Amino acid sequence: MLAELSPTLIAEVALATKLLKLKQRICILTGAGISAESGIPTFRDKQTGLWENYGVEDLATPEAFIRDPKLVWSWYQWRRQVVADKAPNPAHHALAQWQYHAQSSDQQITLITQNVDDLHEQAGSTVTHLHGNLWRNKCSQCETPVQNQARDSYSSKDTVGYDEALMTCYQCGGYIRPDIVWFGEALPVDEWQTAETAATNCELFISIGTSSLVYPAAGLAQSAKQNGAKIIEINPNPTPNTLVDITLAEKAGVILPLLIQEIIAL
Ligand code: NAD
Ligand code: ZN
Repeated sequence: MLAELSPTLIAEVALATKLLKLKQRICILTGAGISAESGIPTFRDKQTGLWENYGVEDLATPEAFIRDPKLVWSWYQWRRQVVADKAPNPAHHALAQWQYHAQSSDQQITLITQNVDDLHEQAGSTVTHLHGNLWRNKCSQCETPVQNQARDSYSSKDTVGYDEALMTCYQCGGYIRPDIVWFGEALPVDEWQTAETAATNCELFISIGTSSLVYPAAGLAQSAKQNGAKIIEINPNPTPNTLVDITLAEKAGVILPLLIQEIIAL
């Protein structure tokens, strides 16, 4: 596998491996790119099918839900259908292996994700979700948690249109919405606290598959850097993150198994 990488990338992988072995407090932030190799489109990919003329910024906001709750609910039902049969890829598995290995080493690994899928959990990781969970719902008025329909009821053969039936809250009658942090909404307090503490106290911050455009999550690398951490970025495309010490410009599913196998082989 190493032979297929460019000499520059091989050198960067070697540098990164050294840091991974040396540092004890590690904070990892993942974004949509880590699930891309599982077949889940990122937010920067163009939307497909029925939704190709909609921007996610027009659907993933509280204003959009107030304006047209059926449209927003239908879009999330469609996204659930897209995600329902997807499985973790080698990048998720490598991180889970590393976390498992760290239980019997001196390393402390905090895994934070911006993703609303549950592929990290499916791979066996313990993960903090900053932006909510696609498989949970809550009332849009009183925030009462409401169970979602079972994942295997989302058959890829069913057609999700613009007109999916809305559910209402048994407590207050408000419309049920996905338990996801929309643009303009605050992040969940406990999860943000976990992320900030881990970023501020880490010696190594690893940013994987995120465009580093959406704040406050994108600011975690800054907190880490200000407190002396080294920053590694894994992303095949350039990002505006200028704090990076080591850039691994390849797919996460290629790079992470390479890095982690070095640590676990110790
Ligand atoms: P993003 O789509 O902005 O960026 C994905 C990044 O992954 C890109 O930089 C891309 O180059 C990279 N990438 C693609 N394939 C990769 C691979 N195989 N390996 C590694 N990297 C790869 O996603 P983001 O940075 O996670 O977006 C930030 C957050 O903004 C999202 O997690 C989400 O919570 C939020 N957001 C939410 C919605 C919503 O629907 N609620 C919409 C847009 C953004
Ligand atoms: Zn309610």
